[in-house]
Amino acid sequence: MPALDITDEQLTAYLQEQLPLAELAAVEKALREHETLRRRAAALALRRDLAYHSVGSIWRSERLSCPERTELGSYLLGTLDEAHVAYVDFHIRTLGCRYCTANLADLSEASRTAKPDAARRRRYFESSAGKLRSRE
Ligand SMILES: [Zn+2]
Repeated sequence: MPALDITDEQLTAYLQEQLPLAELAAVEKALREHETLRRRAAALALRRDLAYHSVGSIWRSERLSCPERTELGSYLLGTLDEAHVAYVDFHIRTLGCRYCTANLADLSEASRTAKPDAARRRRYFESSAGKLRSRE
């Protein structure tokens, strides 16, 4: 789907996670490919934020689309696959999720102070991810 064919209504629905599944993949792909579209989405997210009365409601609604903490860990370690990296980049840099930014800063600080070797950390995050999945 060319970026120009995507309406503000679709972008807003995407940001609110109300976009039908059939359109979701096309919109996410276009967002990954077009900087201009990411800027439009960011501007819409900002306008939407201003329309809310409570900061808490923004926080909660944004958190619905948050990556897992284990995913953020893998993102930091550079062991996340390309599609996930694009999503985390978009979520943090374009949407500017404060929760994940704080989470990432915390993980980054923890890895700086602990300094276990990368392979061990990778195994740790993978086994945590496995445990979380098996619990679902
Ligand atoms: Zn987030």
